[in-house]
Amino acid sequence: LVSARDVSKTFGSRKALNGVSVEVAAGEMVALIGPSGSGKSTLLRSITGLQSIDGGAGQIDVFGVCVQKNGRTTSATRAARQKLGMIFQQFNLVGRLSLFSNVMLGALGRLPGWRGLVGAWPADDKARAMAALHRVGVSDYAAQRANTLSGGQQQRGAIARALVQGARAILADEPVASLDPVSARKVMEILVELNQRDGMGVIVTLHQVDYAIRYCERVIALKAGKIVYDGPSTGLDTKQLIDIYGPEFEDAF
Ligand code: ATP
Ligand code: MG
Repeated sequence: LVSARDVSKTFGSRKALNGVSVEVAAGEMVALIGPSGSGKSTLLRSITGLQSIDGGAGQIDVFGVCVQKNGRTTSATRAARQKLGMIFQQFNLVGRLSLFSNVMLGALGRLPGWRGLVGAWPADDKARAMAALHRVGVSDYAAQRANTLSGGQQQRGAIARALVQGARAILADEPVASLDPVSARKVMEILVELNQRDGMGVIVTLHQVDYAIRYCERVIALKAGKIVYDGPSTGLDTKQLIDIYGPEFEDAF
């Protein structure tokens, strides 16, 4: 899915990423954890090419194609982004559009001749959108405006949009941070199912360590822009977690 080598990203005098190297295979599901400000979102944005990395040796490949090199995104970045469905904490649906229309937007990049008319979208794309909504369990809400849906429903819609987009992997930045525990579990279960049944790669940043341990076999922890743990979630004991989050960790859990 992604191969990142010696990736750094500096904002002013602050190194958000400091020589990060990571390999994630195509069908893996990986949790990215670490304290606030440790660089999780910066790493995801760098992989998707939403943000350029520092010049120098750093390089990022997505599905075997270089998307970042010499501090610049490459001509392949856009095509690679098509393969990555992005999910954010703040649902990022277009609030005034129906859930169905939002999901159809996922088809946009796949339609070379798209002329800006929903009615002109091919019937098989519409069928695909309904199937995706059904898959994530919100087809009953297809006609409802996105900004009237619950957070969990919107987040499932965002996943459906990634499916319609034809994404081969999902990069989710705190997809459950704004959700109640029941909706959060449901969204995590959908991600696990897409990973296990469809072989979709998933990289998900999580503040909830217990979710990372429960749903992901592999966990990568960032601290101050460096990877401080990369291994099985079963290997994350209290001592490890205190190393990652600091001594406050014990009080917080
Ligand atoms: P959180 O868990 O709070 O989301 P994070 O691990 O996602 O944190 P990042 O958002 O990647 O952390 O930020 C890493 C560091 O880079 C932080 O110190 C942040 O202030 C800084 N940073 C991120 N984006 C920018 C930006 N656009 N301009 C300046 N500094 C930035
Ligand atoms: Mg973040």
